[in-house]
Amino acid sequence: MTRKDRTEGIYNRLEVLDESERQQYNRIQLKDVLKYAYRYSEEAKKRFDRAQFDVNKFKDINDIKHIPILKKKELIFLQSMGPRLGGLLTKDLGKMRRVFLSPGPIFDPEDSVQDYWGWSEGFYAAGFRAGDVVQNCFNYHLNPAGLMFEEPLRNLDCAVVPAGPGNTNTQLEIMQKLRITGYVGTASYLMHLGQKAETMGINLRKDLFMEVAFVTAEKLTEKMRNTLEKKFDIVLRQGYGTADVGCIGYECYHCNGLHLANRAYVEICHPDTGIPMKDGEVGEVVVTSFNKTYPLVRLATGDLSYIDRSPCPCGRTSPRLGGIIGRVDTTARIKGLFVYPHQIEQVVSRYEDIKRWQLEVTNPGGIDEVTLYIEASEFPQQEELLHTFREKIKIRPQLKILTPGTMPPQVKSIEDKRSWE
Ligand SMILES: [Zn+2]
Repeated sequence: MTRKDRTEGIYNRLEVLDESERQQYNRIQLKDVLKYAYRYSEEAKKRFDRAQFDVNKFKDINDIKHIPILKKKELIFLQSMGPRLGGLLTKDLGKMRRVFLSPGPIFDPEDSVQDYWGWSEGFYAAGFRAGDVVQNCFNYHLNPAGLMFEEPLRNLDCAVVPAGPGNTNTQLEIMQKLRITGYVGTASYLMHLGQKAETMGINLRKDLFMEVAFVTAEKLTEKMRNTLEKKFDIVLRQGYGTADVGCIGYECYHCNGLHLANRAYVEICHPDTGIPMKDGEVGEVVVTSFNKTYPLVRLATGDLSYIDRSPCPCGRTSPRLGGIIGRVDTTARIKGLFVYPHQIEQVVSRYEDIKRWQLEVTNPGGIDEVTLYIEASEFPQQEELLHTFREKIKIRPQLKILTPGTMPPQVKSIEDKRSWE
């Protein structure tokens, strides 16, 4: 059987707008959705008024920074505040096609419009093509993922097996008998399927017919991607989105980060102040989706990333998120500075002798003190490590060396033990 070309082409002309066209497109879409939200969403009206933000004076994309950000966990409280999900929706709940529930609990409304969650271009970029037979292993029950990831497959003229998660033996039987070409689910479940198949004597390349996979919802390491691509002989790409807004970004064939979708305006902001950061600087992903039904304006996702505007060989001109490198709630502000686990990892990973590490923050007498614990049998480069740490992270930790195996199995990378009484 000849394989399909999954490396080229674009789905939507908005993916290749030039910079000035994109700016103009975003400005028009933003102005439109902000005006609509102010008029029909009680929540948006309250928030804009509180900040004295005059939607009629919105001229430049950067004006959006005057609207206070909406933290994702605020949705839990807001949605319980009355009809139309506490005024977040611009029409009655009964006008929706579906309402899902995701952890929080947060309700996720879905309106009856084509490609509501916006994943079609992302699935095309990942390499799904008409005629694929795709096994969708995301949950179809209460959670939006199953149906959210089924719609783009229908739009691309693929057949879908709504398999959901679990029943590994049945999943493998379907994959063989229907000659499944595409997988949609988490990377870890695909790994599990592969391992199970191998123990049953199934040859993943000869007895299965997989060519493409789309994964999301958990961190994908390059090691995991390479392993899965080799094992199954597939192209595996990931997407990034939330259950509230749907697609935010997706990888193309060239794996250069996540191209931003054209259905939302994405900012990278300081997690405390909501002020937009410069390109390349790490901050919180803040999304304003151009969705008039559920106009979440400046929703702060809690995810950390940065913007990369260098050109991509795929021809898409959209800026990219340089991967999701952590969560805001795993960071700590120490002596006024945000310290991110990935920064520490960058410093510590230079030393092969360090097996594991943890940063502990305490504040005896109200002053922040930082201790870096490392597990190593021998570690002669203490001074060098501390020097690099101070240079890169701008704080001076105490170093404590532990015997390998003494740290509990699951420790937070940054343990904040400060008290504020
Ligand atoms: Zn690209």
